[in-house]
Amino acid sequence: MASLPTYQSIHDAYLAQVKHKSDRLMNYFLVSFFIAGLLLALFYDTWLVAIGVGSLSLLAYYSVRAILPHSNVYQYVVSAVLSIFMAQFIYQMHGLFEMHFIAFIGSAILVTYQNWKLQIPLAAVVIVHHAMFGYLQFIGYDKIYFTQLDYMTLQTFLIHGFLATVIFFICGLWAFQLKKLNELQIEQTFEMGRYQEEQLQKKALLQSNEDLKKSNRELDSFVYSVSHDLRAPLSSMLGVVGICETGVLDPFMMKNISFLKSSIKKLDGFIIDILDYSRNARLEVDRQEIHFTDLLTELSNNLKFMGINDQRKVDIRTTVQNGVAFYSDKSRINIILNNLISNGIRYQNPQVPDPFVEIIVNVSESAANILVKDNGIGIDQGNKEKVFNMFYRVSNNSIGSGLGLYIVKEAVDKLNGVLELRSEIGKGTEFIIQLPNLTS
Ligand code: ADP
Repeated sequence: MASLPTYQSIHDAYLAQVKHKSDRLMNYFLVSFFIAGLLLALFYDTWLVAIGVGSLSLLAYYSVRAILPHSNVYQYVVSAVLSIFMAQFIYQMHGLFEMHFIAFIGSAILVTYQNWKLQIPLAAVVIVHHAMFGYLQFIGYDKIYFTQLDYMTLQTFLIHGFLATVIFFICGLWAFQLKKLNELQIEQTFEMGRYQEEQLQKKALLQSNEDLKKSNRELDSFVYSVSHDLRAPLSSMLGVVGICETGVLDPFMMKNISFLKSSIKKLDGFIIDILDYSRNARLEVDRQEIHFTDLLTELSNNLKFMGINDQRKVDIRTTVQNGVAFYSDKSRINIILNNLISNGIRYQNPQVPDPFVEIIVNVSESAANILVKDNGIGIDQGNKEKVFNMFYRVSNNSIGSGLGLYIVKEAVDKLNGVLELRSEIGKGTEFIIQLPNLTS
């Protein structure tokens, strides 16, 4: 998605536009003033002033603008130049006083730059010109045309000065207010743009969340139906194998049948693990009250008769201390305990006479502490971290998919829990899990 322009960039672009348009306007005015000077020269025969002063003014303006195009110094120059044209016209028209209005036109067009300070050079030149030439004429110097009025007293000068200042002040104020107003508008446009962008992003996010949920649901039902379809023939196979086992078979066939049976179970375990993995990765954390005693009874009943080939039955002991209600995601806790207990059963130590798996659950207001302990073969130091990796098995002829502990770790993470493994080769294994109580 394209990134949103910053307030500064919009502001800068706007200023550049104002500058560009105003410069163009100035071009028209300056050229018109120059041509006006030439036309006046036709009538008043003041070619030297029209061409000399006019072209010097234009030269000053365009050379500063060419040398410092990025600074606004040339705008101050144009301000002074506009009032010099005024003086030029007054002089060309032998002191036609009304030409002072030219300065007011200049003052008004400078508003376009939206900078009140540009009024200063214009006002300064007008005042200096007024004062200096008015005085010269007042003292009787007759080589100067300042005004055709036959009087220029201090009082007249002050009234002129006051009225001119009022006009410059008003134009300066307009420039200032125009700038403020435009800045406000830019800010509002920017805020509006940002708001619209935010709304669009929210909408897109909602849409993609919806899409994601939809594809998750589709994937979920796909995984379910596929795994169900895969497991169904496996159950039939197990049934057939079971029937074969009851028949009279020679030891060779018996061996093969038992090998087939364990392969089918292994494949079934694989499918269950993949199913658990995909569900844990996709499904949101659910929240319901967990009754550990019931859950563990059900689990140990299911696992009690689990035994691969000639493995011994394992004693499953459970202790649940729960004074308070515990809330969490039942299906994830089920997956965690099922994997850990079945590992305890499968990785039993042949040297130990009474294999067991002990599960102790302690529930408090804030968390459930779960210990799954066995007296099996144990895990050596070098493998303690690796056993949580995906598809990692300690030995190649391991009985599982290598997914079980990975799923356990992922599920504990999803529930914001902590998992610790303590184990020693030949001395058994302990998994200590702490899961937060999702009371609210
Ligand atoms: P698998 O499906 O192969 O059992 P797991 O991810 O559950 O995969 O376990 C990874 C490896 O960790 C196993 O191959 C096994 O060697 C070792 N392991 C897991 N649990 C135990 C345990 N309780 N006692 C001894 N070894 C274990």
